[in-house]
Amino acid sequence: MSAHRIVVGVPRETFPGEARVALVPTVLAQLAKAGIDVVVETGAGMAAGFPDRAYADHGARLGTRDEVFAADVVAQVRAWGEYLDAGRDDLDRMHPDQVVVGIADPLAAPDAARHVAERKVTAFALDLVPRITRAQVMDVLSSQATVVGYRAVVIAADHLPRMFPMLTTAAGTVPPAQVLVVGAGVAGLTAIATARRLGAVVQAYDVRRAARSEIESLGARAVVLPLEPGEAGDSGGYARDLGDALTQRQQELLAPVVAGVDVVITTASVPGKPAPVLVTEEAVQSMAAGSVVVDAAAERGGNCALTRAGRRVVTGNGVTVLGPTNLASGAAHDASVMYAKNMTAFLLHLVHDGQIALDLEDEIVDGTLVARDGEVVHPAVREALEAQEEDAAQGERDEEMGR
Ligand code: NAD
Repeated sequence: MSAHRIVVGVPRETFPGEARVALVPTVLAQLAKAGIDVVVETGAGMAAGFPDRAYADHGARLGTRDEVFAADVVAQVRAWGEYLDAGRDDLDRMHPDQVVVGIADPLAAPDAARHVAERKVTAFALDLVPRITRAQVMDVLSSQATVVGYRAVVIAADHLPRMFPMLTTAAGTVPPAQVLVVGAGVAGLTAIATARRLGAVVQAYDVRRAARSEIESLGARAVVLPLEPGEAGDSGGYARDLGDALTQRQQELLAPVVAGVDVVITTASVPGKPAPVLVTEEAVQSMAAGSVVVDAAAERGGNCALTRAGRRVVTGNGVTVLGPTNLASGAAHDASVMYAKNMTAFLLHLVHDGQIALDLEDEIVDGTLVARDGEVVHPAVREALEAQEEDAAQGERDEEMGR
């Protein structure tokens, strides 16, 4: 056995409203067996229902934020200090050759990758885990999307002035709620299953043809729009950006379906792009008073034209449009348990013979490694960074010319 034990630090999340935590007490034994000790910032798990005591009982050391950032590896949910002031302070706590791991959204926020690269840390974005079978256990997008789909339905049910199930009582019959789920990836499929369990009649739409059988296998009706986008899935199973003309066609064809339901849950997304707008203002205006739209894509701009991220909009015709952000944090306990399993599998993947040894030939390491030796090394993130820098330079030129 190697004498040196690897230390993983778990800071308290500082993103506003973030209740998740990167590691939970029950994974610590597995890490310890692989030669990994864990230091947890005091209070880090509290909001998710994991008190300091539980970590200590499972062998963790509790410490300050500085102690946590002194570790060999920092494991976070929201990584890289890209978020607001508290996050920026963490950049000064990082040290060269330290490994930092977490969800970083580096394609949307590539400048944060540059900041961590400047600290000479080795930075991994767990949201870039490739969608290959052996990486499923590390797939944070899937595990967290499960929670997103569930929470979106619970929030919709809470705002709808009707019940989801059909009830036949002495006081008459209550019809079931009609629910439309747009986007049937991981979050959408969980939303379908959850709405069905509550008793709603559910239909769902996805641009990927393969999604139809998955929708039907959950007991929902697959909405098929007469468009010919070709094969909209790419090799990773993701949808492609359809372009303006096809998106407009989708909006027109979806509008009558939207008009006939009580609840619309939208989860459509294309990696690295703003979310496609699929539900127009006119479509919302054709819904009955009291209907609810929950836009689970709000953080990426939203699938509904009326969505305001983090806000509740009530239209003149009495439809509530909700743009909740960070839905996964709404069931922080279970979301953290799943996230911690993903994180543990990833950390164990990096460790060989009690040491962190990066195999750059490995698809998982190569696909998630964003910064190393002072450089942003991930090609797609470099591209996003260059595009962002070019936009900023253009903005400055425009300003100088008084445009
Ligand atoms: P996602 O979050 O990127 O997108 C959500 C859904 O929105 C997708 O199903 C997508 O097709 C859909 N969408 C995008 N643009 C649309 C449009 N214009 N109209 C309608 N729908 C649109 O996707 P996801 O949930 O991360 O998963 C996508 C696929 O990847 C699924 O098939 C999932 O089963 C698969 N997947 C595979 C693995 C693996 O093999 N390891 C892991 C996770 C997910």
